[in-house]
Order: sequence, then structure tokens, then C-alpha cells
Amino acid sequence: MELVCLDLEGVLIPEIWIGVAEKTGIEALRATTRDIPDYDQLMRQRLKILDENGLGLPLIREVIDGLEPLDGAAAFLDWLRANFQLVILSDTFYDFAEPFMRKLGWPTLLCHRLECAADGRITDYKLRMKDHKKEAVVAFKTLNYTVIAAGDSYNDTSMLGAADHGFLFRAPDKVIAEFPQFSLAVTFDELKDRIREVSPRF
Ligand SMILES: [Mg+2]
Repeated sequence: MELVCLDLEGVLIPEIWIGVAEKTGIEALRATTRDIPDYDQLMRQRLKILDENGLGLPLIREVIDGLEPLDGAAAFLDWLRANFQLVILSDTFYDFAEPFMRKLGWPTLLCHRLECAADGRITDYKLRMKDHKKEAVVAFKTLNYTVIAAGDSYNDTSMLGAADHGFLFRAPDKVIAEFPQFSLAVTFDELKDRIREVSPRF
């Protein structure tokens, strides 16, 4: 049995924080896992900037409501779910992801949670567990699934390494250079081809 694990931001949906940076005009919010590999450092920086600017969850939800999944993402998910079991493994938060999940037909999503004050201020974030993408892949393998994984960034590389087959999708050059062991795909059709090449289903 095969199971596909996909990253969310940069693969199926745009980078949420870049959308927030554009909406608010705060350039410092543009940093993503592509720029700062240490996720805790990145999130602390984001929450500090939001707090300094008096921005809370309602504004971010407004930004997210206006964003659409990437072109072709919904059709790609339909193809995956017709052929494999699918789990999305993301370092985003359920509080952010919901509008996208509605637009993508409510796929299974494992991610994290924010902590918010009554006034909407984001006070903290709670990682469900450290390196949860990799731990999920390891756990699925103990359940006798062959795991195919794809992601675009630093926070995906341990997941790709733990999977039976790991692919970088639309990854920036510096990630590609640091992790030459992973095959590449840029379009959804190419990613389908990579998956077909390793799957006994095809
Ligand atoms: Mg990503």
C-alpha cells in the first residue's frame, strides 16, 4: 500500500505569510522557511512583528480568505486521492489553513495550532511535536505503507529523507543545491510523472 505525504504551502497553496506581508506592507513578514531554516526562530520573529504592529488573527484570516490554491492544485489532489491514500503534512496552523481546506475539498491535514487572546492577538504557537512531518512518515512506514513525499523547502527535507521516495517540488535553488539527493519537479504534471515512475500502480 502506498501513501502520499504532501507539504501544503508552496506546493498546493501560496505562502500565507507572503500574502500577509503584501496585504500589510510589512516587508519583514516575507521571510519563510525558505529563508530561515530554524522554524522556531522564524515563528518568534513573525509573532513579534505582528504584536508590534497590533495585528491579530482576524486580519490574517481576512488575508487568507482572499487567497486561492495554486493553479492545478485541486485537480492534482483529485488525481492523487483516486490513486493513493493522501495526507498533507504542514507546519502551518489549523487556524490559518481552514479556508484553503474548504477550497481543496477537505483533505486530511496534520499541522499545528495557534494560541490566541480574546481580542484576536496571537499570543503563542504550539507545535504538535517537533519534526512532525518526518515522525508521521516514520509512523506510516511502521504501518506498512510505502511513503511517497513531496515538499518545497527546508522544513520538508527530513520528511523527504524518511520517505521511501522523496521529491522536491518548486524548490528554491539553494534548497536544491543543498539536497541533491532528491529528484525535482516543477509542474504538477512533472510531479505526477515522478510519482508514476516509483509507483507499482503505474
Ligand atoms: Mg512549503
